Amino acid sequence: MENHGVLYLCPTPIGNLEDITLRVLKTLKEVDIIAAEDTRQTLKLLNHYDIKKPLLSYHEHNKRISGLKLIEELKKGKSIALVTDAGTPAISDPGEDLVKLCIEESIKIVPLPGPTAAITALIASGFDTSSFVFEGFLPKKNKEREERLDRISKEEKTVILYEAPHRLKDTLQELIKYIGDRKVVIARELTKIHEEFIRGTAEGVLEKLGDEIKGEIVILIEGAKTAQIEANPDELLERYLKEGMDKKEAAKRVSKELGISKREVYKLTIGRK
Ligand code: SAM
Repeated sequence: MENHGVLYLCPTPIGNLEDITLRVLKTLKEVDIIAAEDTRQTLKLLNHYDIKKPLLSYHEHNKRISGLKLIEELKKGKSIALVTDAGTPAISDPGEDLVKLCIEESIKIVPLPGPTAAITALIASGFDTSSFVFEGFLPKKNKEREERLDRISKEEKTVILYEAPHRLKDTLQELIKYIGDRKVVIARELTKIHEEFIRGTAEGVLEKLGDEIKGEIVILIEGAKTAQIEANPDELLERYLKEGMDKKEAAKRVSKELGISKREVYKLTIGRK
C-alpha cells in the first residue's frame, strides 16, 4: 500500500467555471494523471486554468477496462485525479465503480469537497434540508420505475431526482399520479446564466413549462406528511419495526395512532420475523 499512488476525487463546476476550490486546482496541478469522463470537456476546464496533464478517459462505456488500467497506474505509484463532466465524481456517474475497485485493491482514496447539482438545488428548494433522500435518475424499466415512484409517494423526507430535459414533462405527468398536491421545485441550469427555479405542484409546474425544455435539471419533491400516507396499519407497523421498535411497542403505537384495537394490530405482527 505504501508504494501505491492515491486516487483524488475532484469535483468540478456544474456550470460556472469559478465554482472550483483552490484545493482541487492544486491537486489537478500536482497529480500524474487526470482521469476524465469526457476528455474534451475536461480539457476546456484545464485550459481555462492553464493546467497541462496527461488525460485518460474513464466513462460509463469503458469503465471496466479503463478502471483496470487506472488501478495498474495507481499500483505503480502514480497519483490520479478523477473528474467527471460536471460536479462531484461518484454521484450518478461511473466514479462509484472506480472507488469500489480502489477499496478492493487497498488503494488510498482522498475525496475533495465541491459542487454537486443535488445539494446546490436542495439548499434553494425551501424544503426540509434536515433529512433528504437522493434518488438520482429514476429507473427506466417499468416495474422498477413504478416501485421507486411508489416509494417516493410515501417518502416523508425531501426527495432529490436528476432528470434529462426531454423527459421532464413525462416524469411530471407520472409524478402527478404518485405525489398529488405535494410541492415540487424544478431547478434548471444551476450556476449558469439561465438558472431558474420553478415552484408549485407537479401539475402547476407542468403548466408553467414552455414547449421546449432545455438545460440540466434537478427535481425536488417535498416530503409526504404523515396524513398523506395511507392510514394502513400494516405499513405503519412495518415502518415502526424498521425504525427499531419491538413488536409490542410498535403495535401499541399503531393502535393508538389509528384508533384500532391492540388485538387487531397484534394479529398483524404474527408471522413477522
Ligand atoms: N456528478 C454530478 C453531480 O455531482 O451533480 C451529476 C452527474 S449526472 C450524470 C448529471 C445530472 O446532474 C444532470 O442530468 C442533471 O440532472 C444534474 N445536473 C448537473 N449539472 C446541473 C446543473 N447545472 N443544473 C441542474 N442540474 C444539473
